[in-house]
Amino acid sequence: MLIDARNVVKAFGAFKAVDDASVSVEEGDILGLIGPNGAGKSTFFNCLTGDLPVTSGTVSFAGADVTRLPPEARAALGLARTFQVPLTFESMSVLDNAMIGALLRHPQARDARAKAREVLERVGLGPLIDTPARSLGTPGRKRLEIARALASEPKALLLDEAMAGLTPTEVRDAIELVKRVHGGGITIVIVEHIMEVIVSLASRVVVFHQGREIARGTPREVTSDPAVIEAYLGRRKVRHA
Ligand code: ADP
Ligand code: MG
Repeated sequence: MLIDARNVVKAFGAFKAVDDASVSVEEGDILGLIGPNGAGKSTFFNCLTGDLPVTSGTVSFAGADVTRLPPEARAALGLARTFQVPLTFESMSVLDNAMIGALLRHPQARDARAKAREVLERVGLGPLIDTPARSLGTPGRKRLEIARALASEPKALLLDEAMAGLTPTEVRDAIELVKRVHGGGITIVIVEHIMEVIVSLASRVVVFHQGREIARGTPREVTSDPAVIEAYLGRRKVRHA
């Protein structure tokens, strides 16, 4: 198991945003994590990365118990994530934003810059490296998030609604990008509301509702599960590739 979270609870006061979640991800897998707004998906990501300490439970990554490690230490072990609300430094250039990720493995600015250029090319932001991040639109920001994460040369990448707000064409391009990233040997956990994205990328899906897992299985299994339809999908039709 590359990622192994056991019995994770995250409480804010008396409210449990994540309530006894156990999710594991094998190396090379693409796991989809879905559920309605407020289900605890982002909070669960925060517990995996260490952006929030767990209330109880354990998180291990690449064989190490990382439950008490700060985010930087988990990133150093190879865990990277994007944020639902892009963590962009507005006045800095696209290149400098991506360098933030690259500095983790390349303390020399020159090497970090080279790494940042390489990942920006890979995500299709090559022509925009000198542009201030503030002038990027939604698709550019989403790609910059992915570039910053990739620049840290991760083993696993957690994508938190990295395709929200994109047009259908941009979503299709982003799916191809994620496939390329995965093809390069990176394990992926993807939170996304666009079911076509989950269906075309994920081999397994876990469904959260009110902080708890209500279903798991293949995309086909969970999208036809009555409990998932009731809690999340409603009458939405999900097309299977
Ligand atoms: P999702 O990503 O599935 O939409 P979140 O993990 O963002 O859900 O939120 C789960 C629940 O936890 C929501 O009810 C949200 O309001 C609550 N929550 C998230 N972060 C905090 C926080 N820092 N303090 C208090 N409540 C929070
Ligand atoms: Mg969220």
